[in-house]
Amino acid sequence: MGKKAQRKRSVKAVKEFKHVWSPAPSVAAAVDAVAAQVRAAAMTKGWAALGTPWDSFTKRYPTVADAIAAAEDTGALTCFAVDDWGEYERGVRRGPDGWSYEVTLYPCAQLRDLVKTCWLSADDRDQAVEQLRRALEGYVPAALRRPEIEVVHRPSTTVMPRIGWTQRLPVTGLETWEDVHLAEKDLPLHDLATAAAGDLDGQRYTSTVLARTVALFRSHGLSAQACAGCGMAVTDRHPHWPGVWTAVDREFGPTCDRSRLARTESEQRVGHVVEEADARPAQALTGQEPTVVCRNCGAQVSDQHPDWPGTWAGAGRHSDPVCAVAGSMGGDDAGEYDLLDCVYPHVPEGADSPAAAAIAAARQARYFLQH
Ligand SMILES: [Zn+2]
Ligand SMILES: [Zn+2]
Repeated sequence: MGKKAQRKRSVKAVKEFKHVWSPAPSVAAAVDAVAAQVRAAAMTKGWAALGTPWDSFTKRYPTVADAIAAAEDTGALTCFAVDDWGEYERGVRRGPDGWSYEVTLYPCAQLRDLVKTCWLSADDRDQAVEQLRRALEGYVPAALRRPEIEVVHRPSTTVMPRIGWTQRLPVTGLETWEDVHLAEKDLPLHDLATAAAGDLDGQRYTSTVLARTVALFRSHGLSAQACAGCGMAVTDRHPHWPGVWTAVDREFGPTCDRSRLARTESEQRVGHVVEEADARPAQALTGQEPTVVCRNCGAQVSDQHPDWPGTWAGAGRHSDPVCAVAGSMGGDDAGEYDLLDCVYPHVPEGADSPAAAAIAAARQARYFLQH
């Protein structure tokens, strides 16, 4: 199994693990304490365990001076590399005081999803970048704030902004990447890795966005929303699902498992709701509704399902508006970080869909891979 697949499985396993243990807070607290130790161990050995992008980078540029020479024209040369618990960009950058080694930590898990949904929901997305920058400054626990850690906006591979916490080291005295490793490993930036991986509720990680984080993002003018049914960050302005509350993860999209309300996942997925009062039980088609075929997956779909009015959803027993055709599971780590999501709507044969153009564009950008 490749590293990426392992990471995906690891993320999924942690999520499932949290679901399993969530009904028993005292047990969960103990389990989360162990999980925190595992995370700390993973961070400690993180450099050696970093994936191939960084290995390739340091092979291609064997010394710091080689990387700086290659970056002479552009002013920066960086490498995005993911380990099991953090998403980092490392490299060299020219600033007012000359060249420095720079390491940037990006939000992951539900915190990254909150950044994405806030940006998608914004009326003014340029302004939202600055609002997000400030929200991520405010997100850092007071005890971990340092003047030398900045929140920066860096180029991304898609329209989605890439915003993270960064710290720099002067390159004076840094010749080899081992020198860099030794100089970097105790940077206060790394203390943020736990927070960057998502919300902590006391000692416990949650797989949801906490109300206090939603409130923080709103206090910076952002339209932050979390689903009352499952706690995921949601937006109703996703280009593939306009007007439908949608998560931007790799799996759920516009579907909710109601795990926050029921404490266990519902077998039948329903729509996300931002008000708990709107969380009705799942409904069903009568079987009399007209159906058409999805042009991408071949399923029979209807836009008259009571759980998904106006949205094309599968007409089978467990109706689902997520097309069976997978979104991108490929691309490099850098591209994957910037993806909007990896689930797509059904697009009916012979009928129009607001998602069709977005899917065509995504396919052109190689973010929609058909099998
Ligand atoms: Zn939900
Ligand atoms: Zn389909």
